[in-house]
Amino acid sequence: MNDRPGRKNQIRYTGRAVSRGIAIGQIVSLYGDKRQFFRVSIDKDSVSKEIRRLRVALSVAKNQIRSLIRSEGTLNPIAESILDTHILVLEDRSFLSALEEAIEIDQVNAEWAVKTITDSYLIRYRSLEDPNIREKAADIQDIADRIQAALGQRRRTPMRLPVGSVLAAKEIRPSTLIELGDYRPAAIVTEHGGWTSHSYILAREFSIPAVTGLRKILRHLHNGDRIIVDGYRGEVVLNPNPETEKSYRERERRQPVTNKFTKDMTVPARTLDGRVIRLSANLDSVNQFAAAKRSGANGIGLFRSESLIGRFGRYPTEAQQYEAYTTLLRSAAGHSVNIRTFDIGIGQVSGRSDDRERNPALGLRGIRLSLSYRKEFVRQLQALLRASAQGPLNIVLPMVSDPGEVRDVRGIVQEVGGTLRSRGIEIGEPKIGIMIEVPAAAIMANELSSEADFFCLGTNDLIQYLLAADRDNENVANWYQSLHPAVLRTVRDVIIAGREADRPVSVCGEMAGSPFYVPLLIGMGAEELSMNANSLQVVRQVIESIAFEEAEALALESLNLPTPGLIESRIREEIQVKWEHLLQGAGWK
Ligand code: PEP
Ligand code: MG
Repeated sequence: MNDRPGRKNQIRYTGRAVSRGIAIGQIVSLYGDKRQFFRVSIDKDSVSKEIRRLRVALSVAKNQIRSLIRSEGTLNPIAESILDTHILVLEDRSFLSALEEAIEIDQVNAEWAVKTITDSYLIRYRSLEDPNIREKAADIQDIADRIQAALGQRRRTPMRLPVGSVLAAKEIRPSTLIELGDYRPAAIVTEHGGWTSHSYILAREFSIPAVTGLRKILRHLHNGDRIIVDGYRGEVVLNPNPETEKSYRERERRQPVTNKFTKDMTVPARTLDGRVIRLSANLDSVNQFAAAKRSGANGIGLFRSESLIGRFGRYPTEAQQYEAYTTLLRSAAGHSVNIRTFDIGIGQVSGRSDDRERNPALGLRGIRLSLSYRKEFVRQLQALLRASAQGPLNIVLPMVSDPGEVRDVRGIVQEVGGTLRSRGIEIGEPKIGIMIEVPAAAIMANELSSEADFFCLGTNDLIQYLLAADRDNENVANWYQSLHPAVLRTVRDVIIAGREADRPVSVCGEMAGSPFYVPLLIGMGAEELSMNANSLQVVRQVIESIAFEEAEALALESLNLPTPGLIESRIREEIQVKWEHLLQGAGWK
């Protein structure tokens, strides 16, 4: 119903909250597939700089095509003629002047100019009768994607996002949030994506409220529309009326102050009956530890080194890595720093889609990729070993499924270490731990404890692989159940295997940062939890409010229940009865 003449209708949508907080702002729609972008208005003085950016990107795109033609040697004549046509388009005078005019007249960024001009070509081609010309639309799309990618590669400064922007997209890519740099969006709304998607892990880390699972919402959102995002209840309100805005602003003010329990953050977190739980931070950027430490982090439980690939747009050099790892060690000032080797798939580095990688989560990724592409792995190990001379640095291997992989890595580490020493370079003796995130590794935790120095329990992937439910696919979100009995039993078994072999186990998936699961994890014996910096205070509150004895009883009972639903009800009941005082403050789930 239109509440006032001339106003747009206020509409409410419900999705799933994936990052807490409330924000009110203006929609900025994201476009693009591999690389996401949005419309940026530029001033007159920036027009010539933007045109230069465009020209550089066009020549990068052309060079890529030329080297593709050259490198393939005996390219099939049809493929070659298609690529020749792409070059012709990139050199076409009318195409180039249309792009430059769009930047100059509309005063927009190069990405937006490429989108609007190629969209107009696409509309024209697709409306033609002649099927041969209609098919050219696919070429235009291909060329547009290549130019957009080249614009991203060359970008040295972050994309400028106006204050108060609410990003709207089908899905949001982690690289988009990284590319924005310090231009933080006020909130994020998306049609797809799950709680453990890397994008929402980042959103929680950056305190950006986010709601996902808003199917088909994009067709109702327009750039500049006003929107409220409620990352507590999973609601969004499009074109809110002033009364609604007022009530949300009041709610925003009333949001619990999460540090009312916390006193001295340097004191270890203890349950009411004295069990110490070590808290550490998961980081995706080298400069975040200071904030995490203020919130009580005792070290870096997990640094996702692949974030450096996002930052540099390619594999970082050894020097860039050394600089990043030593920065982490400096900021951690004596606390331990667990650096995970690159956890990426082949598609993320080759730039080409590989036909065999139809299911990248089961493909050549993590330690498998590192062991297959030794050059980059050796470069990373060199940087890690050199940095380890500067402080307590440990190496974590992702996606391990077999003890042989850990043995292979130890062999390479010895070799690389020997070479460095023979060149007179000082190195440390980093411990080598592994992610337990593949069911095979969980089942073989006993055997793996003879190869690895410690375990990082990666519940995000462990759940997706145990339950065959893609962590990034909204369609199977109902099957991605952290409280599935199979998940809980596996987590418990890994914790026990670690304890029996005297190998520290740190739970570092998103379960560790969610107050709702923390009593259960502690009850199952977890003594170290690693999470994003924003969850540290709230998790500490929970720890300081429960007794280990009670948590253990809850875990024992839950482990005997047959369904996720029954387990969830049991935990809710426990929270209501024993920890009701926390309900307001902790934002349980
Ligand atoms: C995990 O899988 O639980 C984990 C911590 O790693 P990531 O989220 O980076 O896959
Ligand atoms: Mg993982």
